[in-house]
Amino acid sequence: MATRDRTIENLIERLHRLPGVGPKTAERLAFHLMRVEADEALQLARAIEQVRAAVKTCSRCCNLDAQDPCSVCSDPARDRTMLLVIEDPREVVRFEDTGYRGLYHVLQGRLSQIEGIRPEDLTTDLLLRRVAADRPAEVCLATNPDLEGEGTARVLLERLAPLGVKVTRLARGLPAGSTIAQVSRSILADAMEGRRPLSS
Ligand SMILES: [Zn+2]
Repeated sequence: MATRDRTIENLIERLHRLPGVGPKTAERLAFHLMRVEADEALQLARAIEQVRAAVKTCSRCCNLDAQDPCSVCSDPARDRTMLLVIEDPREVVRFEDTGYRGLYHVLQGRLSQIEGIRPEDLTTDLLLRRVAADRPAEVCLATNPDLEGEGTARVLLERLAPLGVKVTRLARGLPAGSTIAQVSRSILADAMEGRRPLSS
């Protein structure tokens, strides 16, 4: 059986590691990149290089930005009494769209028994240290309204409870099992508006 060039196999393998890219898609993308103009393909490589060189993880909130502290943490106009805990840095833009002007804390994931993701695999310790030091008036747990997001919120609530801060959760108006990335701006704004207190 004829084998493919090792460099082609390597590209397919790299693409296959991307989230949501199965082996067939990886193969199709790899052959697409070999067929298009060389410059077109290399622009992609350069874009990856540039973004990796330019984007940093904020040492305060773990958001991704061109600067550390990120543009949210370093903005003196933000409401520092409010802390919104989210799973993923992509969700920052969703909450900004609703008019939210407090601070964020990005967990960089959620707890998952199936995937073996434990509190120490997320930025939980940093969150607890931040809350203990900064004493925000409210910590809103804005993890996704699905099984793992709810489980993550429960565990965080247990850990935040001894610190004596007010902990809230987004309103139940969010469709169960949906993700913050999917819901419309108005639904998300309503969910923010109707935040409810959580107690352990
Ligand atoms: Zn930040």
